[in-house]
Amino acid sequence: MDKDSRRTWAEIDLRALEHNYSTLRAMLPEGCRLLAPVKADAYGHGAVSVARRLEELGVDYLAVACLEEGIELRRAGVEVPILILGYTEPVWARELIDHRLTQGVFEEETARALSQAAMGAGGTITVHMKVDTGMSRLGLLCDERDLDGTAESIQRMYALPGLNWEGIFTHFSHADGSEEYTMLQFTRFLDLLGRLEEQGVTFKIRHCAASAAVLNYPCTYLDMVRPGIAFYGHYPDPSCEGLDGPGLEPLMTLKTRVVSVKTLHAGTAVSYGRTHTLEKETRLAVLAIGYGDGLPRACSDKLRVWVGGGYATVVGRICMDLCMADVTALPHVKPGDVVEIYGPHVPVEEAAALAGTIQYELLCNVNKRVPRLYTQTLDRPQS
Ligand SMILES: *Cc1c(COP(=O)(O)O)cnc(C)c1O
Repeated sequence: MDKDSRRTWAEIDLRALEHNYSTLRAMLPEGCRLLAPVKADAYGHGAVSVARRLEELGVDYLAVACLEEGIELRRAGVEVPILILGYTEPVWARELIDHRLTQGVFEEETARALSQAAMGAGGTITVHMKVDTGMSRLGLLCDERDLDGTAESIQRMYALPGLNWEGIFTHFSHADGSEEYTMLQFTRFLDLLGRLEEQGVTFKIRHCAASAAVLNYPCTYLDMVRPGIAFYGHYPDPSCEGLDGPGLEPLMTLKTRVVSVKTLHAGTAVSYGRTHTLEKETRLAVLAIGYGDGLPRACSDKLRVWVGGGYATVVGRICMDLCMADVTALPHVKPGDVVEIYGPHVPVEEAAALAGTIQYELLCNVNKRVPRLYTQTLDRPQS
């Protein structure tokens, strides 16, 4: 199927990925590693294609949410180190070893089971210790009250056979809003590292900064950074976008087509539930996209899309496969015309705000019915 017969598709600009990679790399001091999170199918951009390009560009590490996502990349021939951020049952030790996947560890009990499983499988699992400095999600509790106990627990885990403790990391919960809380979390992390160092427990790769901290707090970079949304060209807090930003470029443009246009009389009700009644005679375009493609239904009656060189507003409820837009002011718009849903004219942040959510969710929600088309501008290595 060629591009011209497509119904709805997402164009992914790998040149923008290259630009964002260079931009982020240039922010880092010499020797600081760059990890790219490609979890959730690379935030909806397609994990294999994104990971391959990042590998060509020289990324140091990738991160995924689970074992399956890591194996998918290895099967596609991706060779760079991959960190699994989420939980993997120790029964999968063999797979971790065979696919050379690094596992995040956040509980002593799991560390013991993983150690035993690695010994049983006759190999070594590379692991990163996850500590919870205030996100209250994964990680060994690490605040002022728990520091001693946590340090002791880590010392015990450090001595377990079959595990190679390559790294230690934590995650900030409010680096896009609170300097005070971020510095509290960072201080807790540094205090723990200091305590461990006194005991001879050291880690080659200490990391904590995701996109917001990479953009706001260079002091937190340590040995590696983990910007996710920034790689895809978006700012964690959309209000950061603009003059002070480093000039990141979004990768994804979501497009669909006009499939029908007709003129309806004033007083006509549009779409399910008749939530919208036309006040005047209206040219209505039917677009080949709906919530079944990942367009949030909460954008009904609000989202503006870009078609035929102008904006058209969605009218009535967004359906599963279709939605309607008012093209009265765009008389040349006809069936077959391409419509931009998110992209240069319609920032995904705008749609996210209308839907009461964040751009991360809308990017991830562009689902598997929507093919990704990659624009390739770098020469592939000759094989
Ligand atoms: C998803 C994730 C990141 C990346 O976060 P962004 O806000 O997209 O930069 C970094 N670290 C961890 C642990 C994550 O889960």
